[in-house]
Amino acid sequence: MYLKSIEVQGFKSFVHKTVLEFHNGITGIVGPNGSGKSNVADAVRWVLGEQRAKQLRGSNMQDVIFAGTENRKPLGFASVAITLDNADHQLPIEYEEVTVTRRVYRSGESEYLINGSGCRLKDVYELFYDTGIGKEGYSIIGQGQIDRILSGKPEERRELFDEAAGIVKFKRRKATAQKK
Ligand code: ATP
Ligand code: MG
Repeated sequence: MYLKSIEVQGFKSFVHKTVLEFHNGITGIVGPNGSGKSNVADAVRWVLGEQRAKQLRGSNMQDVIFAGTENRKPLGFASVAITLDNADHQLPIEYEEVTVTRRVYRSGESEYLINGSGCRLKDVYELFYDTGIGKEGYSIIGQGQIDRILSGKPEERRELFDEAAGIVKFKRRKATAQKK
């Protein structure tokens, strides 16, 4: 499984529809300060279901929508879609390619889609359990995160190991079963 592409539109500094394509191997994103490199990582976190504005370097969730510049009007919505190659079926879904989309409007309306069908945020979380990819996964290591892992509480560190060991889904199912 690997990340094939990211499509952003109206997300932070990406006013026009922009597609970033990735291939097997290492890709570096370079550019001057403030050109939007970190916004690419924010886009990935956001589409995976990040709900905390602070994690996205904003103060509220509408801050991810393009806010306009001197000569451009603000946009009314933000949209991000990531496509993953799933030929090895590491994601528990029959498709060889999986696209997860998230959209939000200024009105507050928002939606998630998996391969074009509307779904709940919970479905997005479940798709990525135990893959290291989810918003709490270790596939995105942000600035300062290594420090937080090293100095974090044992329970927090445990979550990371559970995810790597692939037992998160069992723990979640057990918790749900016990509630019933
Ligand atoms: P550095 O090298 O300093 O880390 P960077 O390339 O990572 O820079 P980003 O932090 O990704 O840069 O981008 C910051 C830019 O994104 C700023 O110019 C900021 O104005 C712009 N930006 C962030 N949110 C929005 C928004 N909602 N609407 C328009 N522009 C935005
Ligand atoms: Mg940056």
